[in-house]
Amino acid sequence: MPSHAGAHWAGSFDRVHVNKNADATKMVTLAHVCDLSVAKPGFVGHDGPFLNAHNLGQQLVEPMKTTIFSWGYYGWGNHTPELIEAVDAVEKSRGFKPPIFVDIRIRRSVRAAGFNGPSFEKLLGTKRHVWMKSLGNNFIETREGPPIQIADPKSAKDLLRFAKTHALEKRRLIYFCSCQWLRCEGKECHRAEVTRLLFKFAKEEGSSVELVEWPGGQSKRVPLKAAPEIFRAVRNGGKTIPLGKNADAKMLGLPWCSVATLHSNGESFHRIVGPAVRSKGQWCLPVLDGCPEPIAEIAEFDKQAEMLRRDLGLEPIEA
Ligand SMILES: [Zn+2]
Repeated sequence: MPSHAGAHWAGSFDRVHVNKNADATKMVTLAHVCDLSVAKPGFVGHDGPFLNAHNLGQQLVEPMKTTIFSWGYYGWGNHTPELIEAVDAVEKSRGFKPPIFVDIRIRRSVRAAGFNGPSFEKLLGTKRHVWMKSLGNNFIETREGPPIQIADPKSAKDLLRFAKTHALEKRRLIYFCSCQWLRCEGKECHRAEVTRLLFKFAKEEGSSVELVEWPGGQSKRVPLKAAPEIFRAVRNGGKTIPLGKNADAKMLGLPWCSVATLHSNGESFHRIVGPAVRSKGQWCLPVLDGCPEPIAEIAEFDKQAEMLRRDLGLEPIEA
C-alpha cells in the first residue's frame, strides 16, 4: 500500500498510522484518497496519531459515495432566510449537517436582493459559504466566444476535494448560480459544465460521487388533501399548490417532478410538481409546465415526469 500525506499502513486493518507532526488537513486528505468514509479525525495513540478506520476492509471494497448538489436560486431572491431553514431541515432529516453553499458565479451584482453582492454570504456566515469565482463563466464578463467558458476548469478539483473533506463530517455541498434549470430547451447553464468537470476529475482519481440537482431523489407520488378553493384554483391552471405557513422536510425536499394527486370531496386530479418554494408568506409546491391533461391517468403523468427530469437535467450522474 503506498503512503500518502506522510502516513503509512500500521499493519492492522482498522487504523492508519500517520507521522507525529502530521496535521489534520493531511489526515483528511489521506482519508479521502483512500475513501475511508468511516475515518474519524486523527487521534493520538501510544505511538503517534492515527486515523480511526473501522471496517476498513469493507470500505475498500465498497467506497463511500459523496453526493454533491447543484442548484439555481431562481425565485428565492427575497426568501433566503426561509431557504436556509428549508435546506437545513431537509439535510437534518437525512442525517446530514447544514450544507455549505458554493457560489460559482463570476459576478455577484444582481437584482435578486438575497444574492446581490455579499448578502448571502453575510446571512450564512463564512463557515457555510464559499465564493469560487474560478468556476464562474467568463462569457458573462467578455460576451465573446462560446457561451460557456469556465474561468479555471481545474479548480473543479478543489471543489471535489472540498466535498470529500466535508463528507467525513456528514456535511454536503451545494454549488449554485442563478439559473432555474441546469438545462432547458437545448440551452445549458454553466453549472452543467461544472458538473461534467466534477465527473471527469472524480473518474480520474477513482472517487465515488453522485452529482445531482438539489434536493435529489427519485420522483414520488404524493397524495394531498386540498381545500375546495385550492382544488378548484389548481385545476383551473393555478401554478402553485399552497401548503400553509409550515411545511415538513418531506415537502421541502420533495424530489423534482413528483406527481401530486389532489383530493377534494371525492374528486381528484394530478399535477407534476417540484420541492416546496416560498411565496406570499407561505410554502407551496410549484406546478411544472408540460403536465398532461388533468384528466389523464397517473401513468401518463409518471411518463411525462420522467421525460421532464431527463430534459431539465434532474437525473443524477454517478461516477
Ligand atoms: Zn447558470
